[in-house]
Amino acid sequence: MFILPTDEIRMMTESTRQRGAARCEACGKALAVWVTSTHKIAPIGSVDGCPCGGSSFRLLG
Ligand SMILES: [Zn+2]
Repeated sequence: MFILPTDEIRMMTESTRQRGAARCEACGKALAVWVTSTHKIAPIGSVDGCPCGGSSFRLLG
């Protein structure tokens, strides 16, 4: 799983992104994320990743 570059997140439209949930692989925190059509994910509202500094996430559900 990857966090998208900020510019790529900005370019995503409502038709190409979906809300989802993912868990930080570093600390286990669940975050709301954007999921693209290619199954890349990016945390919503915190493009730098998890507050713990983690940058690897696993989709839930
Ligand atoms: Zn974390």
